[in-house]
Amino acid sequence: MVTTLRTQGPARPADSFPTMNPATSEVIATFGVFGEDDVAGAVESAHRAASWWAGLSWKDRRTRLLAWKSYLTRYIGRLAELVHTETGKPLADAQLEILLAIVHIDWAARNARKVLGPRRVRSGLVAINQAATLEYQPLGVVGVIGPWNYPVFTPMGSIAYALAAGNAVVFKPSELTPAVSDWLVSSFAEVVPEQPVLQLITGDGRTGEFLARSAVNKIAFTGSAATAKKVMAACAENLTPIVAECGGKDALIVAADADLDAAADAAAWGALSNAGQTCVGVERVYVADGVYHSFLEKLIDRMAQVRPGDDREADYGPMTLPGQVEVVERHIADALARGGRAVVGGLASIRKPFIGPVILTEVPEESRAVAEETFGPTVTVAPVADLDEGVRLANASRYGLGSSVFARNKKAGMAAARSLRSGMTAVNSVISFAGVPSLPFGGSGDSGFGRIHGADGLREFTRPKSITRQRMKPMVNLTSFSRTDQDMRKLLNLATVLHGRRYK
Ligand code: NDP
Repeated sequence: MVTTLRTQGPARPADSFPTMNPATSEVIATFGVFGEDDVAGAVESAHRAASWWAGLSWKDRRTRLLAWKSYLTRYIGRLAELVHTETGKPLADAQLEILLAIVHIDWAARNARKVLGPRRVRSGLVAINQAATLEYQPLGVVGVIGPWNYPVFTPMGSIAYALAAGNAVVFKPSELTPAVSDWLVSSFAEVVPEQPVLQLITGDGRTGEFLARSAVNKIAFTGSAATAKKVMAACAENLTPIVAECGGKDALIVAADADLDAAADAAAWGALSNAGQTCVGVERVYVADGVYHSFLEKLIDRMAQVRPGDDREADYGPMTLPGQVEVVERHIADALARGGRAVVGGLASIRKPFIGPVILTEVPEESRAVAEETFGPTVTVAPVADLDEGVRLANASRYGLGSSVFARNKKAGMAAARSLRSGMTAVNSVISFAGVPSLPFGGSGDSGFGRIHGADGLREFTRPKSITRQRMKPMVNLTSFSRTDQDMRKLLNLATVLHGRRYK
């Protein structure tokens, strides 16, 4: 059983670093910095493990992944305590995050065979003599580079799906959350002790760069767009493919007929939970003119009751990344300097490492607080003429990750959801798509590309394999030098019948 933390790292670490409780600065454990050779060694043993793992039957992999899920469920208390200690988030939020991860392991394990296993596909009239089969084979070794804000849920979106697809994984977590990651990897080794199918490598950005340049078959990166560009450049050297899950500037749009209490409640939680350090957190709110003031009053009322802290009653914790406090401060200062108003909190809300809730109004669209990812417990609120204008402003962002719409009219809500240029949209709730494992998760623009979760998330970690098997002689042998003019005429006649019809 994984009960205690220990110093982790390569056999002879050249260097080590501590991981700390962000609320108290207390050191939790020390981890080794993996250098280039250490990373190469981990990837090499992962390739051997990958052959073994891919050689297991679908059922055997599924049983092992379900055993891991069960282990995490039974020890959720211990893991949640560790997440709470290492990130500062409230215990209940840590439990919620782990529960979501459990749901994803379960889905990936149960659906891998159905989504990826061999299936017959139609071969079409021209190739009617061929039996066509499609299957999705594992890539080999997937390098997962993760962030610190949801140290269980976020990397699990790649790890669970990559493992279920038959790959081995080498996991480089953020240097802020190695202890949680060590627990996760050790718990997997409890249920799959035979081979190092899931390995941990620790260190800073350099270790991540070594992984991107190593002999992995794909990188699953989650983090900022700026780092994604560096990772892509490193991957380019070996033409290593990458899936990039980056930041967001998610908008919530409130229609004139919306349930304003529900919208304000959801906006407050979407903006403040996890101290706003959520890639799909609500950072901008656009409200239909007619209900702007009533909505704002309700939002002010709710947000003014929410409090950060490290006690058990606190609604959210400290800023996990100390440097993020300056970003939040810059965004608030810029908004105020450009004529914006803080109707809840303001610069005085910043009391390191905590930041109290901040609502900004009358902030110009080009200001940092509207245009850039803030990643803090702040939100901008602006009136719009209607849903269409809300959608237009929401879409005028270089990010495209998540979004929300509140509208009682189902048709209007769904239409707005479809026109929002984000990978995921929640109607009459926030962030709910993250808890539906069959839905793909990911963005466009500076929010990245590729998908985790769902069937697309499983396929992301595979290569499609197409097979044709000739089951009878063809009527016309097209792929032979013995093909005659008469054969070609027959084919062209068939093509005319099949495809030559006029369309109006
Ligand atoms: P960073 O981009 O700073 O880091 C992400 C990971 O990359 C970390 O493990 C980091 O290691 C590593 N890294 C840093 N430099 C390099 C490099 N040159 N080569 C390879 N790896 C490197 O992001 P944060 O950890 O600060 O996470 C916050 C960001 O993540 C936000 O923008 C947030 O929106 C986004 N995010 C996106 C999600 C999504 O699913 N779309 C989900 C969660 C977060 P180290 O920490 O040790 O420096």
